[in-house]
Amino acid sequence: MHHPRDLLSTIFGFPGFRPGQEEIVQAVLDGRDTLAIMPTGGGKSLCFQLPALCLPGVTIVICPLIALMRDQVRALKAAGVEAGALTSGNTEAETEEVFEGLDQGRIRLLYMAPERLASPGTLPMLRRVGVQRIAVDEAHCVSQWGHDFRPDYLRIGDLKRALNVPLAAFTATADEETQAEIVTRLFEGREPATFLRGFDRPNIHLAFQVKDNPRKQILDFAGARKGQSGIVYAATRAKTEVMAQALREAGHAACHYHGGMDAEDRRQVEIRFQREDGLIVVATVAFGMGIDKPDIRWVAHADLPKSIEGYYQEIGRAGRDGAAAETFTLYGPDDIRLRRSQIDEGIAPADRKAADHGRLNALLGLAEATGCRRQLLLGYFGEASGNCGNCDLCERPADVFDATDAVRKALSAILRTGEWFGAGHLIDILTGNATDKVKERGHDGLPTFGVGRELSKPAWGAVFRQMMGRDLIRPDGERHGALRMTEAARPVLRGEQPVTLRRDSIARATPGPVVKT
Ligand code: ADP
Ligand code: ZN
Repeated sequence: MHHPRDLLSTIFGFPGFRPGQEEIVQAVLDGRDTLAIMPTGGGKSLCFQLPALCLPGVTIVICPLIALMRDQVRALKAAGVEAGALTSGNTEAETEEVFEGLDQGRIRLLYMAPERLASPGTLPMLRRVGVQRIAVDEAHCVSQWGHDFRPDYLRIGDLKRALNVPLAAFTATADEETQAEIVTRLFEGREPATFLRGFDRPNIHLAFQVKDNPRKQILDFAGARKGQSGIVYAATRAKTEVMAQALREAGHAACHYHGGMDAEDRRQVEIRFQREDGLIVVATVAFGMGIDKPDIRWVAHADLPKSIEGYYQEIGRAGRDGAAAETFTLYGPDDIRLRRSQIDEGIAPADRKAADHGRLNALLGLAEATGCRRQLLLGYFGEASGNCGNCDLCERPADVFDATDAVRKALSAILRTGEWFGAGHLIDILTGNATDKVKERGHDGLPTFGVGRELSKPAWGAVFRQMMGRDLIRPDGERHGALRMTEAARPVLRGEQPVTLRRDSIARATPGPVVKT
């Protein structure tokens, strides 16, 4: 059997599970009847597609929407997965092809419109092909009182009984009556494993900080929580070793963990962490998958994670017991550069790279948020919420200012120098600092020379970092990291879109009062 986590990256190209997915995938793999209530956009298709590929045989997917089925089949085929759809929209040739694929045992996912269940040939055919699981999309269509009732959905219960296989039902409709009706009609009234827990983990405190002295920032954070079990995630193997050493010198029980250690050493760390109270493990992302320790009291990131999904998954290891837990994430311009270049230099096709940049942008948006972090995080996963009261920004609202003018000046400096320079040189131009390099290139004669004197150098550094975080500018790997403007910056440059930035992170980067607005 394939391991779900391997297929998650090789087939689907995702860096990690989204909230809730892993548990649902596991339940389906374990052969439990499952009801999953997930918000739209939450990623439910993966919850039946991934198990389908791990198991032998065919998974049937009942779905009421022809266009959606076609999209999913197309996407699966593009990823090299054999899938087919039987719908009223098929040409005869398409249907023939699906039957052939089924007969040859090639097809892993068979999408079916519910109407198919009414035709007498369907059940014998399905008996023949070796169905392992039934997945039901939009399961609320089985509810006669709901607005989407589909009479043919009532046949699904019979189908399940006839094939005698586990069924996983998915819906975004969470009200209790609909749920009860799904249980009655699809599961003969026997309670399935139900995943309704939203994405929120309200006991986990969220906080970010700009990285200025990461070693000290992590030591301070851990120092205030001495004796508690915690994880520090770092971007490189070398860093995990250095940081673990620093923590030991500060009197903590700490060890490192990364994929370069041999299996036995890694296992020792896992066992110690599981058994001991108050151990800190400094690790790469390799640590955590098999860890099932309910009382991890904090998770810190010494470097910015890869994506918003990765971030959620890593902080989600804290506080599984439901008691208060804390998280703390550091980020800086070097992290942004590193993560961008990791994506650009990877071997993924262009559209996947674009998606990865998008997931990184979402995380950077969270890092540089100006309102409640949890609201933003949950919103990304499709869940609406109010201010949480349990994040750093709810406790101390961000001080923001209209930075449109500063951002336009920075963009203009970038464009007037041909998108060939990094932040340091651009800031020299903006602040009117006539360095040798500035004079050599004649940049002291540019109209932008000295137009940004109202901000200090570090304040400009923070403006550039936040611009990177908003994906208004990107370092170009082929130009030694020279900053280039993105499409997203055009409306700002044209004066059509204002930009609000955080003053506090600028102030922190700046000795003395500097930011005039
Ligand atoms: P819905 O729950 O509305 O059916 P989908 O299954 O269509 O949602 O997924 C919504 C989006 O989330 C899709 O673009 C999908 O590619 C993306 N997605 C799903 N799972 C993950 C994951 N683990 N990591 C990143 N993106 C994901
Ligand atoms: Zn909040």
